[in-house]
Amino acid sequence: MKLDGNAVAGLLREIFAVEMTLAASTCGGCGAVHPVGRVDVYLNAPGVVLRCPSCEQVLMRIVHGKGRYWLDLAGIRRLEFPDS
Ligand SMILES: [Zn+2]
Repeated sequence: MKLDGNAVAGLLREIFAVEMTLAASTCGGCGAVHPVGRVDVYLNAPGVVLRCPSCEQVLMRIVHGKGRYWLDLAGIRRLEFPDS
């Protein structure tokens, strides 16, 4: 069965409503696992850039402007959240 992204609206709301700093991020570069709250953060880079403390790979870029957020997670292999 093939559906569009609206079919997972509730699931995504559950996932991204959690405390993101507790999520375990797996670096796409070196495979190290760090809680998001413990990675290196550069503000005004421009935007916000999160880097792996083990290898300095860019994990996440966040830009906020013009009423929108842009979130680039290309450097993260996996995010793991507790379900409660
Ligand atoms: Zn790394």
